[in-house]
Amino acid sequence: MRRLGLVSRFAVLSALVIGVLGFALARIIGTEVTNRNLASARQTAVIVSRVVVQSRLTPDQLTHGLSPTAIAEVNRSLQPLLADGALARIKIWNTDARVVYSDDASINGRRFPSDDGLADALEGETSSEVSDLAGAENTQDRSSDDRLLEVYTPIRLSGDAKPEGAFEIYVPYAPIASGIHHDVLQVWVVLVAGLALLWLALSRIVLGASRRLRTQMQRNEYQTSHDSLTDLLNRPRFDERATIALRDADARGGTAHVAVLLMDVNRFRDVNEVLGHTFGDVVLQELGRRLTDAVGGAPVARLGGDEFAVLLTEVSGAAAACELATRLLGVFREPFTLDSLPVELEASIGVAMSPEHGTDAAALLQRADMARYEAKRAHTGVEMFTVERDGTSRNRLTMLGELRRAIENDELLLYYQPQLDLRTGRVSGFEALLRWDHPARGVITPGDFLPLAEHTGLMRPLTRRVLELAARQSREWRAVGVRLPVSVNLSAANLHDADLPTFVSELLRGEELPADAFTFEITESVIMHDSTRATEVVGALRNLGARISIDDFGTGYSSFAYLQQLSVDEIKVDMSFVLGMVDNADDATIVRTTIALGHNLRLEVVAEGVESSDALAMLREMGCDIVQGYWLSRPLPGREALEWFRRHARPIPKAAGRFSSAQ
Ligand code: C2E
Ligand code: CA
Ligand code: CA
Repeated sequence: MRRLGLVSRFAVLSALVIGVLGFALARIIGTEVTNRNLASARQTAVIVSRVVVQSRLTPDQLTHGLSPTAIAEVNRSLQPLLADGALARIKIWNTDARVVYSDDASINGRRFPSDDGLADALEGETSSEVSDLAGAENTQDRSSDDRLLEVYTPIRLSGDAKPEGAFEIYVPYAPIASGIHHDVLQVWVVLVAGLALLWLALSRIVLGASRRLRTQMQRNEYQTSHDSLTDLLNRPRFDERATIALRDADARGGTAHVAVLLMDVNRFRDVNEVLGHTFGDVVLQELGRRLTDAVGGAPVARLGGDEFAVLLTEVSGAAAACELATRLLGVFREPFTLDSLPVELEASIGVAMSPEHGTDAAALLQRADMARYEAKRAHTGVEMFTVERDGTSRNRLTMLGELRRAIENDELLLYYQPQLDLRTGRVSGFEALLRWDHPARGVITPGDFLPLAEHTGLMRPLTRRVLELAARQSREWRAVGVRLPVSVNLSAANLHDADLPTFVSELLRGEELPADAFTFEITESVIMHDSTRATEVVGALRNLGARISIDDFGTGYSSFAYLQQLSVDEIKVDMSFVLGMVDNADDATIVRTTIALGHNLRLEVVAEGVESSDALAMLREMGCDIVQGYWLSRPLPGREALEWFRRHARPIPKAAGRFSSAQ
């Protein structure tokens, strides 16, 4: 609307400017055209009288008047000109202001008081004016233009500078006027047409530009409000729509509710990993279409990843909302086909309604999220938010605040678990494992607080704290002669932290540690889930000189080509296989093949979760390089780890019993 106004404002304004310009131009050119026409008419009159009359005059005739023969001759030669109207009248004056010849013979020889035009002509100048003389005599006939162009021009017979007389010539003005009129009209036509074209062209350009601008703005607006993969609303726009719906519902009063349905695919990560990201994207797009069709006009958004949300602006109650949610589960279950192979998905949907569960968009989304969490945990598919659940969420919130403070208050500490190199029988390093020394709850293991940190952006400061602690410990150990690498675990969020390599290199420099003081452990599933980013940060860490280890190997469907491209140094066979291999032949096979595979790729293979000497013996037989586990030692606080190391610094005998107690 405003843009349209702009265009029309431009049109009016430019028309005005062009109009004024055109008018001024027309006036200037019109005057010029008039003057030229007049000058040319005057010139014609002068030339005609000179050629026809002056050639017959002598100085004597000018002084004393023309003889009757001369008059007759002049009359005769003027006759055709007067007859066809080229000339209206003509007089010849001498310097005494006496008429020596006139086509009106009655005034021949008479003297008249000299007027300006005559005086100028006798001074040598030609002048002219449009006179109304004839018109004045004939005022009754106003329709015809009887005006005359009156021209005075000097007569020079002897070539002297001083004229010997003057012509007073009258030419009919009507033909001149019509010539002028014609020329001026032409000027107007050309100008009006030209300027109108100019205006049209300008307006078209501006209109076109404004249209393009408008489409561009619409496109931008669309892009900023929609998810590019699925064309559904994005999160900010969904929040906006929900806020509007809540406000409307509030204004409307009545019993209808606003409900938010939040859903995601169970184990969507597996779909991506096993079937490929391209198929994952196709699934998300198809889900977007299906959901849109299924909810009949209700706003559908993709909030990120495989997370979708539906907004019900007017729903009768919990039953209706849950019924729709249950119907939407079917949308996920309906098979997707990949190479004519049906793939079925399960979803978890959380429902929250206003005003019972919250009165603003953020609260509803958060409650729906908690309900979904419950749906996933309890494998029920759909859950409606309940107030009891809010209690656990409050716990989570308190814990989150506490964890934030814990990072600052030095409540985080590291335990160190030794690793034994079976090839040399020597301790080859320690894995740093995080503990939280909670003021009220005592020492908490990572499983109880890391997931929270991972989902709340705390992983970045937390990992930096871990790195600082590990670096300080490493430096202390090195000061007493223990030069062993420390393995630090990284999580998914750390691979999004492009500044991490710089932080590590500055830390190493600050603590005067060598480049290989750290080994970084990244789980296989994290690395495969986000391989592009992983390549960047992992590559940068490796360039610093750190070793890279793939943790929990065997669970994440790695591509070997990718492992080689990442150039990792070590793989850690997932603990579940090592724990299971003593009793389970399949697990044993997996461990054996993983070791072989690692060696094929020229990687060191670590087995963790080694709890018994039986497991150790099997691993030794399989050619495993390094072992880690309770059989060797539980994770220990720094000082105890050092004492443990001092007790076990000597090579371990090949036929070992229980390692830690035997020594
Ligand atoms: P993980 O990296 O696979 O670490 C090995 C886990 O197995 C540790 O649990 C360790 O205490 C335990 N473990 C070691 N030997 C044995 C054994 O013989 N038998 C059994 N049953 N368990 C054994 P923890 O310390 O509770 O750590 C759990 C997970 O938390 C770690 O798994 C790791 O993924 C994560 N984590 C620990 N510290 C950090 C950290 O500083 N940063 C990050 N990002 N993650 C950490
Ligand atoms: Ca680890
Ligand atoms: Ca592990």
